[in-house]
Amino acid sequence: MKANLSLGSIAGIKINVHWTFFLLIVWIVFDQMKRGGNTASILYNIAFILTVFVCVILHELGHALMAKRFKIKTKKITLLPIGGIASLERIPESPKQEFLVAIAGPLVNVCIAALLFFTIPIHDILNQNFNDSYVFFSRFTLQNFLFYLFLVNVGLVLFNMIPAFPMDGGRVLRSALAMKMNRVKATQIAASTGQFFAVLFLIFGLLYNPILIFIALFIFLGAYGENQIVNHLAILNGHKVQEAMMTNITTFNPNDTINKVLKTIISGTENNFIVLKGAVIIGVLYHKDIIENSHKEDCLVKDMMTTKFTLLKAKDDLKKVYELIYSKSNTFFPVVKQDELIGVIDAINLNEYLLIQAKLTH
Ligand SMILES: [Zn+2]
Repeated sequence: MKANLSLGSIAGIKINVHWTFFLLIVWIVFDQMKRGGNTASILYNIAFILTVFVCVILHELGHALMAKRFKIKTKKITLLPIGGIASLERIPESPKQEFLVAIAGPLVNVCIAALLFFTIPIHDILNQNFNDSYVFFSRFTLQNFLFYLFLVNVGLVLFNMIPAFPMDGGRVLRSALAMKMNRVKATQIAASTGQFFAVLFLIFGLLYNPILIFIALFIFLGAYGENQIVNHLAILNGHKVQEAMMTNITTFNPNDTINKVLKTIISGTENNFIVLKGAVIIGVLYHKDIIENSHKEDCLVKDMMTTKFTLLKAKDDLKKVYELIYSKSNTFFPVVKQDELIGVIDAINLNEYLLIQAKLTH
């Protein structure tokens, strides 16, 4: 099932809406009907939510365009009922850059709020006779629309600046700490603070608002995951591909049969293979393609292999491999030294190496 609806792209960044977002619209319609609302009130509320989410997209674009200044691409921006997510290709390691990328989102909402503050005379609204305030604020007027939009943008700034890593405020906290101490320690502190807030959100969520439960889960898992990534990158720092690669590997010729490959898979633990013509690497044979073709008896290696692959060098940084594995679906790479195949590296091997190194360094 396709989970996202594409809204097109802005500045080369795809904007997607997750299907669950439409549940929010359905919920608004039902909620309004329950309160005895008419078509006009339903449309007014839907228009309001859509405008709020335009502000959310602008917020995420704030992050994305700031990241772009530091040559970090954003794959997509996804809208969920609980907010937006900008999928940055990577998180900047420099504290100053992370700070600027994190703060750019809330700053967009500060600008929108300021703009609204001056276009709608907020003073006029607040100087209303508050005896009639309920009637006044429940009127479907443009002025009220903009007033609520102002409140939502102020709310977005305050909420996002809660120092619950990996929310924006948490990133601001981590980057500020990382200017004073090393990144691993800074992340640990920010992640613990984040998980503390996640527990608070969970309690409030259970008592008052179930949406907070999702946010709590997002923060809890996010803080855990990012803490782990930073720890792993710190462990891998300075280590090279040749230290973690597998050298005991089977290779195939393009004209080998699928039976030969299947026998090797069954009798050993290797799943993916390199295809050699003489000493030259001409392809990679992925496990899923082998299984896909396993019923075709006369299939040859050259019919199943992929000729598009990323070559790694023995002296490449392991951090680079880690980032490749976690940002792409590809998890298996040939390793060469002066154009000659000397081994392979995959996600399982890299994890194995991490487990061993973690024991050695602690
Ligand atoms: Zn943000």
